[in-house]
Amino acid sequence: MQYHINTKCLYGNNEKVIEESTGAISFPIFQTATFAHPGVGQSTGYDYSRLQNPTREQLEKVVASLESGYDAIGFSSGMAATSALMELFEPGSHMIVSEDLYGGTIRIFNHINSKNGIEFSFVDTTDISKIEDALRPNTKAIYIETPTNPMMHVTDLKAVSNITKELGLLLIVDNTFLSPYFQNPIKLGADIVLHSGTKFLGGHNDTIAGFLVVANNELSEKIRFILKTTGAGLAPFDSWLILRGIKTLSIRMERQQENAIGIAEWLNLHPKVVSLYYVGMPTHPGFELNKKQASGFGSMISFHVNTKETAVKLLEKVKTIQYAESLGGVESLITYPMLQTHADVPEEEREAKGINDCFLRLSVGIEHIQDLINDLEQALA
Ligand SMILES: *Cc1c(COP(=O)(O)O)cnc(C)c1O
Repeated sequence: MQYHINTKCLYGNNEKVIEESTGAISFPIFQTATFAHPGVGQSTGYDYSRLQNPTREQLEKVVASLESGYDAIGFSSGMAATSALMELFEPGSHMIVSEDLYGGTIRIFNHINSKNGIEFSFVDTTDISKIEDALRPNTKAIYIETPTNPMMHVTDLKAVSNITKELGLLLIVDNTFLSPYFQNPIKLGADIVLHSGTKFLGGHNDTIAGFLVVANNELSEKIRFILKTTGAGLAPFDSWLILRGIKTLSIRMERQQENAIGIAEWLNLHPKVVSLYYVGMPTHPGFELNKKQASGFGSMISFHVNTKETAVKLLEKVKTIQYAESLGGVESLITYPMLQTHADVPEEEREAKGINDCFLRLSVGIEHIQDLINDLEQALA
């Protein structure tokens, strides 16, 4: 039986969701490092929790089902998932990546993977011809965020997958911003989907996690070998928190999006808001494409205000909305990308992208919309 995604949030693809020996409805936290063997050369299926733990396995099944993936592998953070991902590539490999990316991803590419001999071309992937121009004989993968963090650029995943399939490259998509509830890159031809589980999947701003969801067995085996060897798997308690968070993914995503649409419309009319980037606004350049390849727009809004003073005052005066990094949780958060998520991006590059001292990013939560608007109104006054 193929479940609707709302049901998959609870039961995955209806594998063993209830712990059989007790009937516990909430999957137990198997807080153990190791597992006793029934006999010599025998295993219960679990040997040591770095390799696999039942709670993490349960979570991985649910995440794989949400993304329509072959397998999902749980890591201790989104960046731990990225580090493991990059172990797939040999020195001398070249990757084409979206030029607007989460700041931590730019940092790992430029400061860790580059020194290990991986070459990167940062290109505007919203323009397919620029991807084609950047291809080299040693290109191994294309890495996309859509919509991007923080400028909300939308890339045509089907068009990119036509290139990767023809040339035998890997298509990797960071799907953190829309979550599997609104977008399923594997269905559009991606080979690997990356998530910061810290964000919408967990949804409660209470733990850090990451995932790699893969489209086939070969990638699953390679990444499970990397996980076993390098050891950044998600711990049992954190796995349980994310499992619990995912149960309400569908209703959170809907409420957060509904609030975001209302707030984007309100901000757009505010005299101190100079420009607004929300893929759910029909005036956004990626609106139609996003509508075609995803079932929703999410709840991330970026905007420029008129002056640095307005930006600083807004960050210091918000009360209901918290001035904090991260996104995707039930609590609304506002960040100053220039000083937070993108602080390590060289100034010139950052300014060219529009990430300046007037630029803010808002993650809309599940509060009542009027309370959020009242808060923004007093903070922008
Ligand atoms: C937060 C984030 C990451 C990194 O995830 P962590 O869980 O913070 O390590 C990667 N990509 C995007 C788009 C993110 O927002």
